[in-house]
Amino acid sequence: MMKYSVIIVGGGASGLACALTLASSRGRGWQWAEDKKYLLFDKGNSDLNKAYLKNVPGLDFMTGKDLLEKIRKQIQDWGGVEMLQEEVTEITRDDQGYTVKTSSGSSYSADYVVLATGFHGFDIKGLDLEVVENPKSPKPGRVMIKHKDFEVLPNLFVVGTLAGLSSHFASCAGSGVEVACEILSRMAGKRIVIHDVPDNQT
Ligand SMILES: Cc1cc2nc3c(=O)[nH]c(=O)nc-3n(C[C@H](O)[C@H](O)[C@H](O)COP(=O)(O)OP(=O)(O)OC[C@H]3O[C@@H](n4cnc5c(N)ncnc54)[C@H](O)[C@@H]3O)c2cc1C
Repeated sequence: MMKYSVIIVGGGASGLACALTLASSRGRGWQWAEDKKYLLFDKGNSDLNKAYLKNVPGLDFMTGKDLLEKIRKQIQDWGGVEMLQEEVTEITRDDQGYTVKTSSGSSYSADYVVLATGFHGFDIKGLDLEVVENPKSPKPGRVMIKHKDFEVLPNLFVVGTLAGLSSHFASCAGSGVEVACEILSRMAGKRIVIHDVPDNQT
């Protein structure tokens, strides 16, 4: 079974932002970061596919589709993240960490799992999670998973609308970044944030 440091389930605003921050820990001379492997699964139904964005801070008006593509390209440029278009159907936990199964019957293991599957429903089997009505959604029938500081079980996190955040790109992406920093900090054994400066200031 293929082993990963982190498996992210969902490749929309929150999942991609999480993956991008994890990927950006590479190439900085941090020994603990270099051997880490990341895997992201996505069904391809992000709400961003329907959006035309005029209120994302600092971003020129653009379609959500273009923004998804742009972030995927940023992740590829950093490297270290495998992105597969596949549905996750089951996640189980044991002493070694988590096992993630997909609709094609494949299994993968990970030390950390990030759930970023959006608020339209949650039907991944195998974990005893508290799925409740999402109070931040103006529409009924949206769900969230209860958590403490985004952690649901040890080393299993929830982000984005599924974590009960308002359905806005910046809120959801921010939670993905927040959880990535927490995971990187646990891996490093010290607090991690990642700040870059222009080349001429290094
Ligand atoms: C019509 C519309 C217009 C919008 N306009 C704006 C706007 O102007 N400004 C703004 O800030 N926000 C806007 N939004 C909101 C924004 O799109 C969402 O807040 C954001 O996409 C939520 O991010 P998320 O990561 O929680 O979920 P999503 O981006 O929806 O991503 C969830 C991903 O998980 C995948 N997934 C689900 N289950 C599985 C599984 N079992 N296995 C693998 N993958 C899975 C889905 O296919 C999807 O790709 C708009 C939304 C809509 C619908």
